[in-house]
Amino acid sequence: IAAGGEQVMKALKQEFEAAGIKNAKIMENCKLHKVGCRGFCARDVLVDVTIDGETSTYQYIEEKMVKRLVQDHVVGGKPITEWLVGDDYHTFHEKQTKIVLHDLGKIDPESIDEYLGVDGYKAAQKVVAEMTPEEVIKTIKDSGLRGRGGGGFPAGVKWAFCAANESDQRYIICNADEGDPGAFMDRSVIEGNPHAVIEGMIIGAYAIGSSLGYVYIRAEYPLAVDRLHTALNAARERGYLGEKLFGTDFNFDIKVKLGAGAFVCGEETALIASIEGERGMPRAKPPFPANKGLWGKPTIINNVETFANVPPIINKGADWFASIGSEKSKGTKVIALTGKIRNTGLIEIPMGMTLKEIIYDIGGGIEGDKLFKAVQTGGPSGGCIPQQYIDLPVHYEGLQSVGSMMGSGGMVVLDETDCMVAIAKFFLTFTQEESCGKCVPCRIGTKRLLEILTRITEGEGRKGDIELLQQLAEDVRDSSLCGLGMSAPNPVISTIKYFRHEYEAHINQKK
Ligand code: SF4
Repeated sequence: IAAGGEQVMKALKQEFEAAGIKNAKIMENCKLHKVGCRGFCARDVLVDVTIDGETSTYQYIEEKMVKRLVQDHVVGGKPITEWLVGDDYHTFHEKQTKIVLHDLGKIDPESIDEYLGVDGYKAAQKVVAEMTPEEVIKTIKDSGLRGRGGGGFPAGVKWAFCAANESDQRYIICNADEGDPGAFMDRSVIEGNPHAVIEGMIIGAYAIGSSLGYVYIRAEYPLAVDRLHTALNAARERGYLGEKLFGTDFNFDIKVKLGAGAFVCGEETALIASIEGERGMPRAKPPFPANKGLWGKPTIINNVETFANVPPIINKGADWFASIGSEKSKGTKVIALTGKIRNTGLIEIPMGMTLKEIIYDIGGGIEGDKLFKAVQTGGPSGGCIPQQYIDLPVHYEGLQSVGSMMGSGGMVVLDETDCMVAIAKFFLTFTQEESCGKCVPCRIGTKRLLEILTRITEGEGRKGDIELLQQLAEDVRDSSLCGLGMSAPNPVISTIKYFRHEYEAHINQKK
């Protein structure tokens, strides 16, 4: 849409109508097919023309190009070669392993029939009609699926904790409050294949014995919210949500709760408070939500990507999923690849793929052939990984070993022209603004960190500032109440560790 997709679609409709009147015979069987994210954002707007099973993919399509596209190719049958994608488009996709993104960009996200056409709701039916809740939890445990929202906690273990609590009600929540700068994984998945997330929630609900779930999604994602509502309504109409699902006694429905765009509401206890109508602020754990969550009842919270992985695991088996990825990080990870990289976009890699493969094979290397300097992973709470770790495998353990984290999957590539102190300041500005203010280390600590970073970048740095930053960053990390404060200093800590000379250069070049 940002690249002009809506205008292209409108122009295509108009040209189809015009061509249909003039060439009724040729246009009789033509149809326009809208899909979700195709992944290769850098080449938008992408248009496929498929005739007799042969597909040509066009890139950078603008409204003004549509008339010729329809006339020459759709009506005339002759592809416009100079507008077609190159080999790098195919390499971009071939290097990926797509589970969550498998049907994105292929099916119409507003059509439940198209989801059913790719075996949609088959896993939910199998689970509810043929499996016990214990068998479902065991399958998810055996698959090794870990929460994709940042923490990386094993999903099946969390489900088992929740199911073990005696209660008249349990809740299941999908966390779609993705708010990291540079992250658009969850939004794109909901926009491109909302039924997969709903189906994952149905399976989770059956496993823990829940009759009501919530999707907590930020109001700033209007297209995702619209498509989610469309999908929920369609699922209800077809009997995939509601009472007596699949002819059994299992009842389950999903409500949507809009978040107002506070980053801290991605933290599970703050998210629960927000659904309950309270101010979105974290609380100390334990008790964990699996024991005492929404309205005091046992609650599971997983993010969009985690739920979207569940139907394929049920359909293809735990062993299949566990065979992908690394020893401790199974499956794939969806990544929003951005920054100074040629092929920005939404990608999915097997866990364990190296940074080099992601940046050069999929990402096409650094823009303008500049030198790669670092990559920031894990959003504003992650760390900056320098060039010397270019062969690092990307999985939970790999990223942690160099002081960063997987987070929800944002990856911002930086080149030789980027100032790492400014990068640390950029991310800290974000977390400082988003601090909810409940605990002192985060509320005051991030403010003081930002003040020091600001004076360093403005040529007012003082002797001893680096040591002060380091000490304060560690104190904030070690004493904050929730994950936001605990991880907010990561960009500072990692840039001092790997790029200390840049801090020194700023201080030594005082005004
Ligand atoms: Fe709020 Fe920050 Fe404390 Fe978390 S660490 S509770 S965001 S003040």
